Amino acid sequence: MADKPEITRRPTWPQSSSRPVVTPLQPSVVYASASPDDLDAQYEGTNPGYTYSREGHPNAAVLATKIDQMEGATGGIVTGSGMAAVTCAVLGPLEAGDHVVGGNQLYGRALRLLGQDLPRLGIATSLADPTDVGSIAAAIRPETRMVLVETVSNPTLRVADIPGIAKLCRERDILLAVDNTFSTPRGFRPFEHGADLVIHSVTKLLAGHSDAMLGYVAARDLELRERLSDTAITWGLSPSPFDCWLAERGLMSFELRYDRAEATAATLADALAEMPGVTRVLYPTRRDHPDHNRAVAMLGGHGSHMVSFEVAGGRAAANALVRAAEGINFAPTLGDIGTTLSHAATSSHRKMSPDERAALGMSEGFFRVSVGCEDSDVLIAKFRDAVSAIADVKPSHLTS
Ligand SMILES: *Cc1c(COP(=O)(O)O)cnc(C)c1O
Repeated sequence: MADKPEITRRPTWPQSSSRPVVTPLQPSVVYASASPDDLDAQYEGTNPGYTYSREGHPNAAVLATKIDQMEGATGGIVTGSGMAAVTCAVLGPLEAGDHVVGGNQLYGRALRLLGQDLPRLGIATSLADPTDVGSIAAAIRPETRMVLVETVSNPTLRVADIPGIAKLCRERDILLAVDNTFSTPRGFRPFEHGADLVIHSVTKLLAGHSDAMLGYVAARDLELRERLSDTAITWGLSPSPFDCWLAERGLMSFELRYDRAEATAATLADALAEMPGVTRVLYPTRRDHPDHNRAVAMLGGHGSHMVSFEVAGGRAAANALVRAAEGINFAPTLGDIGTTLSHAATSSHRKMSPDERAALGMSEGFFRVSVGCEDSDVLIAKFRDAVSAIADVKPSHLTS
């Protein structure tokens, strides 16, 4: 036996008196403790340390602390996706018999969670217009425990009245959960305006490179934080170390990417409005946006990186535009370092009837742009080419 090499699962790490500049990636699922006493102390919280990565790991902790600092939060949790964060935010605090009021233009899967899955678990939901406190107030029932809204909604970029809804929620002792994905903490910090929970799809602009899928949820209240943490661990909403590592790397350039994308988005919105064939442009800080005043007051003039617009000519025009948009990915996501274009009627809102979409202001010619970090002039020229391609569509193919 003595001459057999030992196969060890107890590796030793090479010693170094210097330390790495980059956060190490720690993919280990399990952590070995020195003794039952030590393990006991870890579970009791008197010894620091990790045990099993569903319950926490260093890369998630490093990322959570960074997003906490950006949001002015403490003890935020990183989850395996933005939807995991939304799920955690509702399953953590709510019980069967409770009622939730959701914004009527929430992210598609969040709408589905509220409309189909929560009722299955005995949690009733209704939808209301978050740009109008009166609409939210009218939806509140005696058993309402939570209002869930997005700061800026998809894809019409309406700005919720967060201070107004926060005041209402405080008066009625209702939790206010805010999905801040579209604004990011650089554009808006919900805790400073009365939110109780803040949610992010970190997948989007925070991570910023379409290569990591993650979410984040934080609560103002300590007891609520503990419930969220338990829910995330029990329901298995935990993130992968590698995705956390990628997102933390992405965050290093977040402010640069945000500022560049926002400046270009504002310029692109104005340029689109002047292009023949464009019938409508939506950008929160433009004077013609329905929530312009709130965007200036509440968002401090931050329009963020999303622009929506509409062209005449229905699906045929939409196809022509996308085919001519060379170098711009037509993809149902947002927040990538490169500009992406998405089409509500065939992606996020495909389950709605044309009439339902029309009620929300989305025709077949309605597009949403997630502005990236390309040169602004080059990008605008690409959009000019794409929009002008509509003119070549045969009139017989134009229907709306
Ligand atoms: C994308 C998105 C989500 C869901 O995030 P995933 O990371 O895709 O699960 C939730 N809310 C908003 C506003 C989003 O844009």
